[in-house]
Order: sequence, then C-alpha cells, then structure tokens
Amino acid sequence: MNIFNMTAVELGTKIKNREISCIEATNYFFDNVTNKSNGYICFTKDYAIKKAKEIQKKLDNKEDLPILAGVPMSIKDNICTKDIETTCASKMLKGYIPPYNATAFDRLEKAGAILVGKLNLDEFAMGDTGRTSFFGGCNNPWDNTKSTGGSSSGCASSLAYNEAIFTLGSDTGGSIRQPSAFCSVTGIKPTYGLVSRYGLIAFAPEFDQIGPMTKDAIDCAKTLEIISGYDKNDNTTIRKDSFSLIDENFNIKGLKIGICKNFIEYSDKDVQIEVLKAIDILKNLGAIIEEINLDVIEYSMPTYQVLSSAYSISNMARYDGIKYGYKPENVDCLEELCIKSRTDAFGVEVKKRIMFGNYVLRHKDDKNSHYKNAINAKYYITKQFKTALDKYDILLTPTTPKTATSFDDNTETDIFLASSNITGLPSISIPCGFTKENMPVGMQLIGNHLKDSVILNTSIQFQKNTDFHLKKPNF
Ligand code: GLN
Repeated sequence: MNIFNMTAVELGTKIKNREISCIEATNYFFDNVTNKSNGYICFTKDYAIKKAKEIQKKLDNKEDLPILAGVPMSIKDNICTKDIETTCASKMLKGYIPPYNATAFDRLEKAGAILVGKLNLDEFAMGDTGRTSFFGGCNNPWDNTKSTGGSSSGCASSLAYNEAIFTLGSDTGGSIRQPSAFCSVTGIKPTYGLVSRYGLIAFAPEFDQIGPMTKDAIDCAKTLEIISGYDKNDNTTIRKDSFSLIDENFNIKGLKIGICKNFIEYSDKDVQIEVLKAIDILKNLGAIIEEINLDVIEYSMPTYQVLSSAYSISNMARYDGIKYGYKPENVDCLEELCIKSRTDAFGVEVKKRIMFGNYVLRHKDDKNSHYKNAINAKYYITKQFKTALDKYDILLTPTTPKTATSFDDNTETDIFLASSNITGLPSISIPCGFTKENMPVGMQLIGNHLKDSVILNTSIQFQKNTDFHLKKPNF
C-alpha cells in the first residue's frame, strides 16, 4: 500500500479502519522517502517512530482520535518544534533547538499526526524561489530548470515529488499560494488571526499566517480545522475555540464570484487561457460570474515591500550572536561579535531586507515617510477589497501571472497575492489547468474575513468536478 499516493484524509481513514497501522505507515514513509525534492532539511525518524507507537497504543485502546491521527506530517522549518532543530533555513539558527512547540504544530500533534521532517524554505521566509535557503534550493518536478516558488518551497516540492502526505507552510506575502501554483498543490492562507502565530519565527507579524499545503482542498480544510482557534499565547487570534469548515451540502449554485479582469489581463496568455476555462467550469456549476476591476495591482507590492521590511527589522534585531543566533569565534569585543555574527550568518536577501527596512523607517515627518504612505495605501487597498466583497462571495484571480519561472526571471510573481496579507483576507490557491508545455496553472480564490469555509468548500466542489489536482509530474 503506497501511502504517498493517498491524501491525509484517505490515509487517516485507513488507519482508523485498521487497514494499515500507523507504525506501518511511519515505517513506509522512512523506507521510501528519497528527498529528491531537497524539500527536507531534516527527518525526525526516531521521534516519529516513538510517537507512532504512542498513537497506535491509543488506537488499539479504541480511543476516538481525529482523522489525521497516525498520518505523517511535514512542517516548514520556521515553525518551532520542541527539542527538534528549527533553522529557518539560515546559518544564523543552525543548531537552534526550541524549548517549546508552535501552537499550530502542537495542535496537530495532539490530534495524533506524526512529525516526520522539517521542510526547506527561503531563509527566514524571505524570497519567492526557495533559493535563498542556506541548505540550497528545492526542485520542481514539473520542470527542473524552473523555480518551485517560495518561500514555502519545501512544502510544495515535497508534495509534488510525492514525498509528503500533508504539510504546514507560512504566508507573509504569498509564500503558501505562489509555490502551490508553481508545483500544482493546494494551499490556503487563512484569515489573519484564525491560526495562532505562537512559535512561528516572525518575519512580519502583521502579515504572517501559518496555513496548510496539501494534495487537495479537503485535506486543507481538515488540517485548518485542527490548527485554528483562540490561543492565549497569541493575542491576535480570534476569540473562538474551534471552526467547522466543511459543509457537505455546500452548493456553488448562486455563489457570486467577481472575476478580477485586470489581474487576468496582466497575466501571460497561457495562464489566461487556463483560468478562463476554470471560470467556465464554475459557471457551469451555477456560479454567478461578473467581471470587476481592482486598481490595486500597482500598489500592493510597494506597500507590501515597505511594510514587511519595516516590520522585519525588529524581528531580525534579536539575532546578534548573544541572545540568539550564530556565535563566531575569535572576537575581541561585543561589537565585533555582533557584526561578525550577522555578516557571516545572514544571507544576502535577509541583509537587503534589513537595510531596506531601516531605510523606509528613517523619515520622521509625515510627508516623506515611506512607512506612513504605505499605511495609507494599506487602508486604501483594504477598502477596495472590502467594498468588492460586500458585493461578491469570492474574488477570483490567477494565483500568479506566469507559471513557474526560470531562475533569472525577476517577475514579481506575488503581485496578486500580497494584498490578502495586507488586508488579512483568506485566500486559497488551487490547481486549475496546465499549459501546452505541461506546466501547472493555479487560481486564487479570495473570501471575506472569516469566510475561509466559503473558499474551501468552493475549492472542494471544484476539485470534485475536475482532476487537475490529481495530475502528477513525470520525474
Ligand atoms: N515573496 C515574498 C517575500 O519575499 C513573500 C514571502 C512570504 O510570504 N513569506 O517577501
């Protein structure tokens, strides 16, 4: 029984029905995983086998465990795992062993899922190719000369290479959705505050959210149900303990979808063709489709870049070789320690963000303040999206204007994505077609605040009527 061909819910159901034990599933994982993707920074074999035995005992005692009990899970390496190295794919945190679990991971572990490894990413989640990782980039099985996207590169590539069952990523400005589109997996950035950020190593906390990246939308919904809800350790979490996200009776008929026309026109022709076909499928399922224009394209990236870099600098300041981070040897004084630590252990991209973040915060007067201008733009963007969502249940865009890009291509492929982080709105990327070159195309559905279930159930219905998400690359 090849567990890699199953979704998390399928495998969880088989474990529940005793068709396979969770110890067998765990052993199967480690006997067959190859890391062709370079998606894994580390594997946690001994830990996983110990946990699998504990869970199997509970199952043998007929304890009623959630559907993901016994299922192997792989977690982006910026999510803290107690007693297990968490590196953020940086030399700065190499060897860092967190003394506590991130809440999202903790909840999955309490639900019985088994941690099998930590996944590669752009260093400190800064980047969109996976290539800024200290551990090297990941591979895209759809075309090895192309990027996997990032920063959740390890999540997307391990799933696409059939080396993971389900994963957790993080999204500050598109890092779940963009690699999902490039590698043909399903990934959701939840409403801001739905999932606790406690134990997610901060990049830009106003925008950061943890979210599932999986083989289909049902797995996304089931995982999100487990990790969402109030956490006393994160005051920005929504004051509700649990969320039920799957509605068996959900019907696309009558759903009002606003198609962001200028986002489609901005995209490459081959992306446009597939997204337009997907829109027809939604129309045939009964959705009411209307075209709208949002002029935020030109504002969202500069706003994101100014704000995310400004927020990031106070988080990066803690890495000085004293409290946290790489400690160089043979230094004479405190200042030299701090300088050498950062010079040697941060990669170029992180250094650029620190410099840019300091630059945008340097003006104190209102008129010249990039930060204040960006805050104004944030309100403008939010108003525009909220007004559109008064009228529509969902806004639809291509996930990215291009399919997976080559490494020398500097296109801003997050351009349709960062506005959901700026506004806090939930958005999902699902596979919606393939170009003539057999490269995957993703479509993004954006919902209103706390309407994560609407975009999830629409995705579930779309996937019941299509097989894009089932198609596998040849590698
Ligand atoms: N690509 C964007 C950046 O580099 C988004 C990263 C993210 O979402 N973590 O900032």
